Amino acid sequence: MKHVVWFSEVGKEDVPLVGGKGANLGEMTKAGFPIPPGFIVTSHAFFDFIKFNKLGEDIYPLLDNLDVEDTAKLQQTADLIQKKILEGRIPPEVAHAIRGAYRELSRRSTHGKKDVWVAVRSSATAEDLPNASFAGQQATFLFVRGEEDLLLHVKKCWASLFTARAIYYRTKQGFDHRKVGIAVVVQKMINSEVSGVMFTAHPVDGSPKIIIEAAYGLGEAVVSGAVTPDEYVVDKESLAILDKKISEQTKMVVMGEGGGTKEVPVPLEKRKEQKLPDKFIIKLAEIGRKIEEHYGHPQDIEWAVEAGNIYIVQSRAITTIKKEAKKEEAKAEGEVVLKGLPASPGIATGPVKIVLDLKDLPKVREGDVLVTTMTSPDMVPAMEKAAAIITDEGGMTCHAAIVSRELGIPAVVGTGNATKVLKDGEIVTVDAYRGVIYKGRVESEEIKEKKQVEVIRSVVYPTATLVKVNVALPEAAERAARTGADGVGLLRAEHMITAAGRHPAWFLKNDRLEELTEAVKRGIKIVAEKFYPKPVWYRTFDARTDEFRHLLGGEEEPKEDNPMLGWHGIRRSLDQPELIMAEFEAIKELHREGFDNIGVMIPFTVSAEEYIRAKELARRVGLVPHKMVAFGIMVETPAAALTIEDYIRAGIDFLSFGTNDLTQLTLGVDRNNAHVQKLFNEEHPAVLKLIEHVISVAKEHGVETSICGQAGSRPSMVRKLVRMGIDSVSANIDAVKTIREVVYREERRMLLEAARKLEKSLG
Ligand code: PEP
Ligand code: MG
Repeated sequence: MKHVVWFSEVGKEDVPLVGGKGANLGEMTKAGFPIPPGFIVTSHAFFDFIKFNKLGEDIYPLLDNLDVEDTAKLQQTADLIQKKILEGRIPPEVAHAIRGAYRELSRRSTHGKKDVWVAVRSSATAEDLPNASFAGQQATFLFVRGEEDLLLHVKKCWASLFTARAIYYRTKQGFDHRKVGIAVVVQKMINSEVSGVMFTAHPVDGSPKIIIEAAYGLGEAVVSGAVTPDEYVVDKESLAILDKKISEQTKMVVMGEGGGTKEVPVPLEKRKEQKLPDKFIIKLAEIGRKIEEHYGHPQDIEWAVEAGNIYIVQSRAITTIKKEAKKEEAKAEGEVVLKGLPASPGIATGPVKIVLDLKDLPKVREGDVLVTTMTSPDMVPAMEKAAAIITDEGGMTCHAAIVSRELGIPAVVGTGNATKVLKDGEIVTVDAYRGVIYKGRVESEEIKEKKQVEVIRSVVYPTATLVKVNVALPEAAERAARTGADGVGLLRAEHMITAAGRHPAWFLKNDRLEELTEAVKRGIKIVAEKFYPKPVWYRTFDARTDEFRHLLGGEEEPKEDNPMLGWHGIRRSLDQPELIMAEFEAIKELHREGFDNIGVMIPFTVSAEEYIRAKELARRVGLVPHKMVAFGIMVETPAAALTIEDYIRAGIDFLSFGTNDLTQLTLGVDRNNAHVQKLFNEEHPAVLKLIEHVISVAKEHGVETSICGQAGSRPSMVRKLVRMGIDSVSANIDAVKTIREVVYREERRMLLEAARKLEKSLG
């Protein structure tokens, strides 16, 4: 039984031996497509390895008696099995076969230079495993070189069969662990200058167009959505290029020193250029058309260009194109178990993890659906791991909504009773476009289409009204900057300050204010650096007393009946001036380091008097308002809106509408109360009247106006604001592109209207 086979020796019928990925590469190699050469370590090699080390006797009994719902035990067992695999010895004849094939591949590929760089990927062998990523067979290692390193990475791929998630999934699906094997694909690494994906039919409507996405560097960045690629549309018949959208690319993924990958900046002169020359676009489209002909079905293809040669790295059937009959069927299989507000767009499937208490947090693993009453800042690390988030409470501006939008994780909030209706471990599909939770895994045509729509990206439009971005986590700065936003219209302080698990009051009480300054400095610096020289408006600490109770020092926070109307924002900062002065100190130090792009924004103010006192505290630490930093306010109380002249007299460089609070306070609707969410309306005439008034007064006095509340991410609101003459809008990361397009169109509409009017008046 063969331990190693070359791509050219296998085809689509060999899935049990070489896995889906391996079979596919074999099929295309045989058909003569430009596939980088390679071989596959078969599933026999894996089974022989298990036998040789007598691992079966160790591993499988552990799994037979395992309660996979006991997450700690599951993780422990998974770690133990993976360790055993990594410590196992590869049988000499298997090692020999792998070494031999690798030497042969090196000889063929490097013209005499000995060791070739390879990509090592696991390849799932059970055809009926519906989702390889859940089955845990997705391990990929790039730029591996040398026989020893290769053997080690083959073992790592084998071990990936026993991650906690993979074990959990197979157990739940009733698979026999003993029968599930794994193959490993070893393929010459293409060190691509340009790479991307190609659809041989429009992924949504199926029209006969070939769509190519291209970016500099390795393909991982395009596939994962980490960069915005160029998009070219080619006519499938004539191969004429119908459309090109060129995106600016500032970063790319390349080979790291000594292996692996790293991210580097794209040279300035190349950033705005077309990534793939026309003649390659046409050649690539031609190859795509042939691959589609070979399979008889539209394909989703990964490609790469190295030294002027095109390579095909992967091809799968596109399954998203509309088919009327199938659609009915697909819809019927999704049973809706819950509904809520779609707070952060996207779709994900995974096992439910109910978190009622912070001590439940460790059970949340990569790919789980986190279900809780309401998230809090100390849940952020667990939220980052989650595939989706569901909460009982909350509206579009609650903590869960804000953080998940920023992290790009689908979230449905305000479901009322998710923590009661859903059960731990149960698989659900979260459609956070519509706010619907389905039982089980639902891959309806409709859902797949929505996923594909995310792939089709938009152009960057030049607008007169600036489009900025809201940032809460320094970790999201990179993603935020990639949107091409004109600055940060709201940098929230809360997450950077609480990242270390301590309440700001703790720093005060324990006389450790320098650490608070350090934390703020570190956080702002990451964002200010990414955006330099674009402005970054830092909002001073504004957390309600109920938000941070779980943190060290948080237990002493006063218990308030209405924390939304309580001790937070500037009113609290003035009561505890040491805290805000520690924040100002950080900004002063950054200014000394050359960051002259930071602005200070004072939250939740109700009188100009408060603002004047805040400026005095800044001066006290040596941070001079208006001179060293722009200084301004959030307009988020009706009081501030109605006394805006007083603030202007006190000196503000800018103001930004906090429509979450402004709406809450104008309409008397608690933003976190799901019962009254239906009344929460930022476009209520009363709210709009306040905003319009403030913009017109600010304009008279040359004060810059902006919005950073959630409504700044909503097209209908933004259109109104553009007409009112707002200077900038700041949107959530995921909304920046859409909002830019909305602003662009509205501005053009206004110009057109003005031109028509003029024409009419001239007769
Ligand atoms: C707002 O109130 O609109 C705002 C942006 O601040 P937060 O959501 O933090 O209250
Ligand atoms: Mg607010």
